[in-house]
Amino acid sequence: MEKTVKTKIWSVDKHVNNLLSSDAIQEAARLLQENEVVAFPTETVYGLGGNAYSDEAIEKIFHAKGRPSDNPLIVHIYSKKQLLNIAQHVPKIAEPLIDSFWPGPLTIIFPKTEAVSEKATAGLSTVAVRMPDHPVALALLEKADIPIAAPSANRSGKPSPTTAQHVLEDLRDKIAGVVDGGKTDVGVESTVIDVTGPQIEILRPGGITREQIEAVAGKENVRQPSSFTGAVKSPGMKYTHYSPNAPLYLVLSKERIHDLIAEKKAKGKRVGVLTTVENAENYDADYVHACGERADLRTVASQLYESLRQFDVENRDVIISEAFPKEGIGAAIMNRLEKAAVKIIQ
Ligand code: AMP
Ligand code: MG
Repeated sequence: MEKTVKTKIWSVDKHVNNLLSSDAIQEAARLLQENEVVAFPTETVYGLGGNAYSDEAIEKIFHAKGRPSDNPLIVHIYSKKQLLNIAQHVPKIAEPLIDSFWPGPLTIIFPKTEAVSEKATAGLSTVAVRMPDHPVALALLEKADIPIAAPSANRSGKPSPTTAQHVLEDLRDKIAGVVDGGKTDVGVESTVIDVTGPQIEILRPGGITREQIEAVAGKENVRQPSSFTGAVKSPGMKYTHYSPNAPLYLVLSKERIHDLIAEKKAKGKRVGVLTTVENAENYDADYVHACGERADLRTVASQLYESLRQFDVENRDVIISEAFPKEGIGAAIMNRLEKAAVKIIQ
């Protein structure tokens, strides 16, 4: 029989400077040490944390999320000294990136040690690691003092949560607790890079851009994207993701959006449009949602998942989304929209 728990909710002000001694952090850390699962804010999205050494804790994460067991988790640390407990060694090529971007939204793949649960890495010989740049996450990780595996704290397939409320919409009474530290900042997940080969390879675009990585590591040391679509190296990238309930069409040309709205309306569909502040007045649809400002794509990233969830609340039949340039953080935005879309239209 399904075991239900009453999810505890702790509110924590991320600006106070004695977070380590707060009752909320102490209780949440103790639950993590007891192999319970607890959601917490990071600078990207909310994570669902569990002891990375414990098969039992990791099973609880996969179960609560409904995540396919072949999709490995990212392990979170608060200090570089924890790294060698979980990574066999740190390739030289990774060092300047760690120095520049940790704490921050950059996840690095290392050869794993035996200590890390094989369930957390889905049986792979590598482990994905990052140090989040959020005072609540860092305090919780330090207090628990164990590496914490934490995927995004949403039901698998749904948009990632950027507020504690989103976590509760998906996981209420399926997890031991959630630390509410307010809305997250970056809004899309971390960039995932593989440093185990001769060149750095970007497996998932995210909060740290390709341009930032190239500036630190040297462009010649970063593998350039190719049109070859062979085996998927990052297992999670093959799954449908981030999807609102209504089908989402990602439309690359602006002119085509107006035609598509007219077509769908003629069929009696209630049409929602995902756009930005600049263009919100331009569409004749049933619901027009402005997600940030096109002039500053970081604002679009920050609001993207909340916007996708808002379409579920509005309950339209179809969603038509504008496209964004695949530069800087735009690469991460487009990656998430492509994964959310049922169809990409030229
Ligand atoms: P999430 O935890 O939902 O942000 O997803 C984590 C992402 O990192 C997924 O796309 C995983 O496939 C990827 N990932 C985690 N561990 C590894 C690994 N050892 N090798 C390659 N990709 C990984
Ligand atoms: Mg996720």
